[in-house]
Amino acid sequence: MIISGTELAKELKQNVKERVETVKEKYGRAPHLVVILVGEDPASQSYVKGKGKDAEEVGFKSTTIRRPADITEAELLQLIETLNADDSVDGILVQLPLPSHIDEDKVIETIVKEKDVDGFHPANVAALWQKRPCTYPCTPAGIIKLLDKAKVQIEGKKAVVIGRSNIVGLPVSKMLLDRNATVTIAHSRTKNLAEVTKEADILIVAIGRPKFVTADMVGDGAAVIDVGVNRDPETGKLCGDVDFEACKDKASVITPVPGGVGPMTRACLMENTLECFLRRIQGA
Ligand code: NAP
Repeated sequence: MIISGTELAKELKQNVKERVETVKEKYGRAPHLVVILVGEDPASQSYVKGKGKDAEEVGFKSTTIRRPADITEAELLQLIETLNADDSVDGILVQLPLPSHIDEDKVIETIVKEKDVDGFHPANVAALWQKRPCTYPCTPAGIIKLLDKAKVQIEGKKAVVIGRSNIVGLPVSKMLLDRNATVTIAHSRTKNLAEVTKEADILIVAIGRPKFVTADMVGDGAAVIDVGVNRDPETGKLCGDVDFEACKDKASVITPVPGGVGPMTRACLMENTLECFLRRIQGA
């Protein structure tokens, strides 16, 4: 079974849209998402465009602030401080990666936790690991929703996550652990990776290497979630970290690229923005 992230994202966004209509009546305004784009990286431009489009689709006020690649770190931090203090702004997102002269950690820490719609702020990360209320990072949240939609049982299952980044591998591992899966985190130094991944009931792949996961690495009936976004070196087309054609017959469920985790990430960003708005406006 192929799990369509595009379809599920549509449902989630429709739900956000309906809730936005209600909150607009109740509070007199729609949530406002501000996305900052530094430089002209084509992939970042396309991601930012998609986020703005989704924000408008669900009825948010959406602002994209573009700054040149040579903006200083101090200028960028000042811009974020201004948005932090602006009561009409509910969510702030700085599109990553940033030019190398800007410290991404500093940027992430400068966005106030209450407007951190990405869930990257250290206080949000700490809350996630301490099982306290937090803003869940969008991609891991989207992955869990895809598994739930496909009715994949998580509790008691063996989950293997390849990748240990702060934005995907680690948080999704924690979220699977909180759902009572037994989680193994694999990475570039893992020995005999195929032996590890073959044991997985749930295999989450977040590496960034085209078609890295081959059929011999997937156990029969595994649920396979492909987070990777790459260019196929042969065709130049978008592809995942999983060799979809080779693995789809072995997996019980599998996500495609494009049309899997990507649209879910954006839908979860819309949910996070609405939640940040509600928490701020309700003074929670
Ligand atoms: P990242 O920070 O570069 O992390 C990659 C991880 O993969 C690292 O933990 C690395 O191990 C591991 N890895 C690399 N080569 C490996 C190998 N040969 N065997 C086993 N593990 C290996 O990447 P990321 O930010 O997590 O992103 C991963 C992919 O997901 C990228 O393609 C990215 O574009 C995509 N992504 C998609 C979305 C979406 O919404 N669809 C969102 C975020 C990211 P070490 O820790 O040992 O170096």
